[in-house]
Amino acid sequence: MGHKIYDAVALGEYLIDFVPDGVSVSGEPLLERNPGGAPVNVLAALAKLGNKTAFIGKVGQDPFGEYLRDVLIRQGIADEGLVLSRDAHTTMAFVHLDERGERSFHFARQPGADALLTEDEVRPELTSGTRLFHFGSISLTSEPSRQATLHAVEAARQAGAIISYDPNWRPSLWETEELGLVWMKSGLEQANIVKVSDEELALLTGLPDAGTLDIAAGAEELVLRYGLDVLLVTRGAAGTYYRTTRYAGEVAANRVVPVDTTGAGDAFMGAFLHCVLGSETKAADWSEEELHRTVAFANAGGALATTRKGAIHSLGTLEEIEELLRGRR
Ligand code: ADP
Repeated sequence: MGHKIYDAVALGEYLIDFVPDGVSVSGEPLLERNPGGAPVNVLAALAKLGNKTAFIGKVGQDPFGEYLRDVLIRQGIADEGLVLSRDAHTTMAFVHLDERGERSFHFARQPGADALLTEDEVRPELTSGTRLFHFGSISLTSEPSRQATLHAVEAARQAGAIISYDPNWRPSLWETEELGLVWMKSGLEQANIVKVSDEELALLTGLPDAGTLDIAAGAEELVLRYGLDVLLVTRGAAGTYYRTTRYAGEVAANRVVPVDTTGAGDAFMGAFLHCVLGSETKAADWSEEELHRTVAFANAGGALATTRKGAIHSLGTLEEIEELLRGRR
């Protein structure tokens, strides 16, 4: 593989999350403006660990779009792949917390700018100029961003990039659950490295609910059927299950006092991909020891992100991750 400009490029949804933060004097919820979107969170984690990154996506030509561009620049993520829409507003997600602190989302996206990214707007030098390409499933929910995503993944793969995929399940964003599953699975066909939750693993292996899931069997099925290098099943405080064609195992989560788990999975993924980029061998050929060590590093990245508020602001540095791994935090 020749010289590449970027270590990692990601494509996908980039939006404003409005997150409840207390109550006003008149008793109404106060909402905090936050940058949202898993692909950028993953890039922010990679950038914080010293990698050269760029983002591909679309926001509105409005103050929120300008703010989101500033966020990229402040994180050191190249913004030349960020496109402005004249036709739609920057996508917004309103987070609702129920009495037990469980999150649900209401999206203002009919459509939102993120879903209007077109194939022509994906700059070829970004897809061909990266060692690793990361995407998710939210940009697959509707056209034209679905075609733009599949085109970009294919271009990156042809140019020799490692393909990383995080199929996030957001049922309300799909026309039907069946269609959602079809497109979620289409991403697996292209990917080398995939991260899922228990629930997503159950869905992708055709089980009705996560309660009946046999993680080992489900993970093996996905790795073999889609020819994955590595499948990671992240399970919050229960840690991570990993599977390659050769090895399977679990790495316990670090013991921390979580404050806000938003973005833990993205911090985990960023830390994992950092190790992938730093390794001489491809993940499919890693020894069991290297695999275990890498998942432990990623777990520490995920755990640290739960100890502070937010997704991007909560990311740990390399030193903090290493300290947590040595048990000194
Ligand atoms: P997601 O944010 O995608 O739902 P998880 O919640 O599974 O992902 O978190 C990803 C990883 O972050 C976990 O595998 C774990 O290593 C770490 N992590 C998440 N929550 C906690 C927690 N409460 N304590 C320790 N580690 C955690």
